[in-house]
Amino acid sequence: ALSVFAVKISIFHVNDTHGHAWTFSEYHNPDIGGFAVIASIIDEERAKNPNVLFLHAGDINTGVPESDLLNALPDIFALNRMKLDAMAVGNHEFDKPRDVLKYQMSIAKFPFLSANIYKDGKPFFTPYIIKNVGGVKVAIFGLTTEETSILEPLYSQDLEFRNAIEVAKELVPMLREKADVVIALTHLGMGQEYEGNYTTSEELAQNVDGIDVIIDGHSHTKLEEAKVINNTIIVQAWEWGKIVGKLDLDVENGKIKEWNWTPIPVNLKVYKGKDENGNAIYEYVGKPYEPAMYVKVPLDYFAKLGSKKLDTVIGETKVLLDGERAHVRSGDTNLGHLITDAMLWKTGADIAFQNGGGIRASIEPGKITIRDILTVLPFGNTVYVMKMKGSDIMKVLEYAANIPEGKGAFLHVAGLTFESKNGKVTKVMVNGKPLEMDKVYKVVTNNYMAGGGDGYSMLKEAKATGYDTGFVLADVVVEYIQKGLGGKIDSYDDTPRYIRI
Ligand code: ATP
Ligand code: ZN
Repeated sequence: ALSVFAVKISIFHVNDTHGHAWTFSEYHNPDIGGFAVIASIIDEERAKNPNVLFLHAGDINTGVPESDLLNALPDIFALNRMKLDAMAVGNHEFDKPRDVLKYQMSIAKFPFLSANIYKDGKPFFTPYIIKNVGGVKVAIFGLTTEETSILEPLYSQDLEFRNAIEVAKELVPMLREKADVVIALTHLGMGQEYEGNYTTSEELAQNVDGIDVIIDGHSHTKLEEAKVINNTIIVQAWEWGKIVGKLDLDVENGKIKEWNWTPIPVNLKVYKGKDENGNAIYEYVGKPYEPAMYVKVPLDYFAKLGSKKLDTVIGETKVLLDGERAHVRSGDTNLGHLITDAMLWKTGADIAFQNGGGIRASIEPGKITIRDILTVLPFGNTVYVMKMKGSDIMKVLEYAANIPEGKGAFLHVAGLTFESKNGKVTKVMVNGKPLEMDKVYKVVTNNYMAGGGDGYSMLKEAKATGYDTGFVLADVVVEYIQKGLGGKIDSYDDTPRYIRI
């Protein structure tokens, strides 16, 4: 044992915050989350006990326009103030070009940890850190889902995602010699639905001895209690900072004697119906917390910087533009049509392709703001134009026809209609004429798909025949609504362009 005394350590953790630095509202759950409130929760403990760690298990990027617009600078600024000790590299840290990630790392006062991402045979990120917490040596190492190379291929192609279990098997015995407590800060994911070709945090615990704690992210898992596998404690804190996990460790003579994990609700409420005046009644799930001003004030300032642009009204719609997750991942919607039509309108291409998973929200009837568009299209995708033979377009459609419903890869098209039956593609029409196998068509897609995202390797193969226009897809959609549609949407084409029988 390296340390010979009893110490109580509290480890706070969040994961998958996806731009939710500010307090936000969900249906029947107003004013929840927010980094300033999380700061208050952590500070309450810090006032009692200096031996506190604060960790983030990855995916700070993508999901809230105020954050996306500023490349998550507000989030990182706030986390600096909250004295975050370390963050795991999540797959969404590769949503934007590498210089954005480098910039983020340069302003962060905490390390971005990942031990299994390599470039040219060397670790690309800091693999681990060792902290002295009240005399206890705590090693924290990072792991990133191997799935990143599939999920975010565009900006991670130069990197090698090594098997998390193999990397940990090498690293953990070395860390055990240097530290009393070994923590894996992982963006791997947990739960049945995550089992497959990629390492889950449960598999990590099962296969690697000597990890005391796994603090996980990626699967947005809401746990009631910690899991224990092979003497390893596994925890995750849902998503968006709606809860913050608190793991208390009693360390005696360098060993964990007792522990306790609590998911702390961040001002979550339950709807209790309406009072006699028709006002909604809410009851806090846990203790209510006030935001810490040293975090709230700068975040409010950042939000104000963005709000002039984000609140700009670009048009009005009389109909719901449907971007509901379950809908855009299983069929055509009017919003999928609008987005792909915008791509054709801007580039004069014959055919447009867009992945349903890249459409992240609906637009309600009423005024449309830039915030609405960036909520639908948060990834900062650009528009890619290429040339493809009819026979290669068939390959795209055949791939699309075999994607199970519910997957982000589900295909939305413009300029084209087709059917499929049991995975076989028929009745392919381009602008009302049958697809010609030898003819070369101009195709437009987003840079995610052009990079082979969602498994569209045929688009990646055709990439060299074209170029990135540099147009940001969200801007193209804004321009199409303003100029192409004159700012008025009374109805929008929702006749299916792809019929699956
Ligand atoms: P995580 O659990 O890591 O937060 P996620 O929330 O993005 O991942 P899903 O909601 O299942 O996971 O979404 C994955 C889908 O999102 C992909 O299949 C793809 O369709 C879409 N997607 C992810 N990244 C991009 C991107 N950069 N551009 C366009 N679409 C993307
Ligand atoms: Zn996530």
